[in-house]
Amino acid sequence: MNLLKQPVINLNGIGAQTANRLGKLGLRTVQDLLFHLPHRYEDRTRVSPIGMLTAGMTALVCGQVDFIDVLPRGRKSLVCKISDGTGAVMLRFFHFTANQHTIFKPGTWVCVFAETRLGMAGLEMVHPDYTVISGPDAAVTDARLTPVYPLTEGLSQNVIRKAIKQALQVCGQHPQLLADCLPASMLQDFGYPSLAEAIQTLHAPDETVTVEALQDGSVPALKRLAFEELLAHHLRLSSLKRQASVWQAPIFQEDAPTATHFLRSLPFALTGAQQRVIAEIVADCKQNKPMMRLVQGDVGSGKTIVAAYTALLAMTAGYQVALMAPTELLAEQHLRNFSVWFAGFDVQVSFLSGQSKGRIRQAVLQGLADGTVNLVIGTHALFQEAVQFHNLGLVIIDEQHRFGVHQRLALREKNQQAGMRPHQLVMTATPIPRTLAMLQYADLDVSVIDELPPGRQPIVTRVIPSERRAEVVARINEWVGKRRQAYWVCTLIEESETLQCQAAEQTAEVLAQALPGVRVGLVHGRMKSSEKDAVMQAFKQHQLDLLVATTVIEVGVDVPNAGLMIIENPERLGLSQLHQLRGRVGRGKDDSYCLLMYQSPLSETARQRLGILRDSNDGFVIAEKDLQLRGPGEVMGTRQTGAMQFKVADLRRDADLIAAIANVSEQLFTETPDAVPRLCDRWLGTETLYAEV
Ligand code: ADP
Ligand code: MG
Repeated sequence: MNLLKQPVINLNGIGAQTANRLGKLGLRTVQDLLFHLPHRYEDRTRVSPIGMLTAGMTALVCGQVDFIDVLPRGRKSLVCKISDGTGAVMLRFFHFTANQHTIFKPGTWVCVFAETRLGMAGLEMVHPDYTVISGPDAAVTDARLTPVYPLTEGLSQNVIRKAIKQALQVCGQHPQLLADCLPASMLQDFGYPSLAEAIQTLHAPDETVTVEALQDGSVPALKRLAFEELLAHHLRLSSLKRQASVWQAPIFQEDAPTATHFLRSLPFALTGAQQRVIAEIVADCKQNKPMMRLVQGDVGSGKTIVAAYTALLAMTAGYQVALMAPTELLAEQHLRNFSVWFAGFDVQVSFLSGQSKGRIRQAVLQGLADGTVNLVIGTHALFQEAVQFHNLGLVIIDEQHRFGVHQRLALREKNQQAGMRPHQLVMTATPIPRTLAMLQYADLDVSVIDELPPGRQPIVTRVIPSERRAEVVARINEWVGKRRQAYWVCTLIEESETLQCQAAEQTAEVLAQALPGVRVGLVHGRMKSSEKDAVMQAFKQHQLDLLVATTVIEVGVDVPNAGLMIIENPERLGLSQLHQLRGRVGRGKDDSYCLLMYQSPLSETARQRLGILRDSNDGFVIAEKDLQLRGPGEVMGTRQTGAMQFKVADLRRDADLIAAIANVSEQLFTETPDAVPRLCDRWLGTETLYAEV
């Protein structure tokens, strides 16, 4: 038996209960323990003079107790002052026992470890770790940095440290068990230590390793493991791509007269970028392998028409198409657009969402099953069990970043014919920088629409405090007087959609009163879809001047005459989301404005972030800067189910590693393919996270 695969319960001091708790952290085997790396370290390798302490500093100090007292004022606490000749510091305990009274007798020497903070009476340490020592010369330091592990309820650092120590011993005795998956030449090129060494270093750093180097990620052991972890993610996604090539897919040949007829009927000519991306798609669909292509393009770059062209390709070949949008509103807009674009073609277009009920729903399901419906547009309801297709040849997913990796992968399964898969086109408005895209979309080929349709004016963005609300309201009046339209977007920090909708309702009322000549409409997520649709249509046809909305209008909504957007509390949203929202204006040839009306006071980071948005209209630039400022969790959307989770890697710190990963991944597949599953297994576990079943 592979000793690394033995259950944790085999280790000394681990009973059923502890094993259970470790299981909650995903730690079932000895190998899992080895890959459970510290999330930070404590430095108890040297004693700091108390006089050198500053607020915020975490340190080990030794001192003699000067006095001890229980303060009844405010929250009752035990305080104890210690000094070492260079200075004094207060220890404070809010939870304490009578026993501690005797321990901290004046004159006693203690050694304490904690973060120092500035209290009412100078520097203090709250609930420090402490031990009584014999005197100022007692040996109190550790030789190495102390690892601090992620824990779960009922598990202590001590228990997990002991368990990991044993795991390290197992692999110390059998080093071959932790054999490297990376070729030796590669390790040499990058200057990385072996896997066993790297693991050892991170659990028990030697004297040469400092806390600072571990934090900024410059320790080679850390770099190596971060690299390997990122590589494992890339390998897993690209194995999916490789596996998918065993599937067959229908061949779509382009039909020149149909294509010409379609393009001539459009009110505009395609941009060069749109033509290039369409050519890439056409080439994919000529193959009998399923296309898996991501189209990235900034808001307003014209992705929808590319989707429509692809749909036409599939339908001309006699196959059905499913187009999925993240919101009802966006799906309905696509329905209208596609109905217009395909009006001159013999094509049956239907709609299906969670709101479709009863006979209407039955009719759509029937049409999809018997093949009379050629194109169905809808929300994720499209991919529920009950939906059966006659011959689905193409799946299009719009605004894919709203769906997680898992959902994206699940959709590939929707085809009845054995051995066949539909082609897949996913579209996203670039919420993530290129480097991240390489990793997150390793299972996809990527096309980029890097050009906006001609004649667009850049959106002028202003950052304004909400104290100037009256001015903003006056501005709307003036704007509407010029026959233009505007959006007012309400956001709330709470996740509660109900509260967000209430806020929008109130705002709409207040604005309607303040602006008697202005026709005010309201859309929010809790309205019936028919009501939302009616309001959106009225706004589109300019029967309304001002549309008050929640962030439901974030994606896709297209009303070129609406050139002014006010976003309330923009500091609460991610930059990519704000950029998406702002993309609702600036869709026509006229000038357009976005006013970011924040609640004072604004934090320094928030000020910088809004500044980025003010200074750039480029989704790529915004995503890159947001990444630097806030880290990838925010950029990729932590709330997304599909966002990648890492043990060691930190995409902000380790972004420079990603560039090399695609090459190394390729190299492993060709040179040492058997290392691929081993690597994925070590880092991602054997459970197939992105199951293809
Ligand atoms: P997004 O990429 O954000 O989904 P859309 O597909 O909604 O963008 O397109 C934005 C607007 O630009 C729509 O009104 C669309 O009709 C228009 N549009 C798309 N392509 C062109 C083009 N080549 N020339 C002019 N307008 C275009
Ligand atoms: Mg769109």
